[in-house]
Amino acid sequence: MVVSMGFNEMEGAFIEWYPRGYGVAFKVKRRLFAIQTDYQRLEIYETEGFGKLLVLDDTVQLVEVGEESYHEALVHPVMLAHPNPRRILVIGGGDGGTLREVLRHETVEKATMVEIDEGVVEASYLYLDVAKDLLERLIKGEEKRAELIIGDGVKYLRETDERFDVIIVDSTDPVGPAKLLFSEEFYRSAYEKLNERGLYITQAGSVYLFTNELIDAYRAMKKVFDRVYYFSFPVIGYASPWSFLVGVKGDIDFTKVDLERAKKLDLYYYDPERHETLFQMPRYVRQLLEER
Ligand code: SAM
Repeated sequence: MVVSMGFNEMEGAFIEWYPRGYGVAFKVKRRLFAIQTDYQRLEIYETEGFGKLLVLDDTVQLVEVGEESYHEALVHPVMLAHPNPRRILVIGGGDGGTLREVLRHETVEKATMVEIDEGVVEASYLYLDVAKDLLERLIKGEEKRAELIIGDGVKYLRETDERFDVIIVDSTDPVGPAKLLFSEEFYRSAYEKLNERGLYITQAGSVYLFTNELIDAYRAMKKVFDRVYYFSFPVIGYASPWSFLVGVKGDIDFTKVDLERAKKLDLYYYDPERHETLFQMPRYVRQLLEER
């Protein structure tokens, strides 16, 4: 989705350029690491005020200071809306932030993370203070409640015999290896691999800058899931507000969350007591989403 990149040495800045010249920039002190993996170009910068910055193919994945604004919004609304989330699948999420938040829920018996690019897991373990200990245990196969599979999430979901209560897609934007994660065919295999009652969530891009992609994904999900919800959340480092799409299988009400379980989490960004505020959208976006 990104148009072009920039590590501007003169300005000491990393700029992610979105369409039509909209940019998100961080002042950086230096580039710590850069590598071309089998799937993408991976870079890590040290920013002036937001800790380290992870960049994949010129797009900002996270900054250490404030990454919870994304991971809390992606994980906790679905985990708290599901009455008993025990088996969880995370697709992508190689930095470990999503799995870290998933494992904060005591109901979780087993979580599986399927990340296509081993390089992201290793670089995140070596350079980022996001989920270092968890990634180390995963790499060594020592994490009791979670396992890491290096592979394509599309293929994994098509082939697995496992069933899940919650499926979380923490992917890059819908280009390259992540393209099929936004297809109707993939939504169908996700629906099939959810238990009788289950929730599916995916990040779905910038509300203002990728409205068309959001609407396409919403419509494709509507063909598959029993109900589909959209919400948005301000995320540090992205062209916010950022959108999320939730697909429901069975009789789960995504407009309500378990506040007793929420209290134990002591969240910083997502406010379960104001869960309804997630559903605010610019009026034109709501109208487009509701059009047939
Ligand atoms: N929060 C980030 C964002 O939205 O910008 C996403 C973070 S996470 C690092 C995204 C991960 O998805 C990447 O590590 C990428 O390798 C992985 N990914 C992309 N396509 C995938 C696929 N088909 N199967 C599994 N992982 C995939």
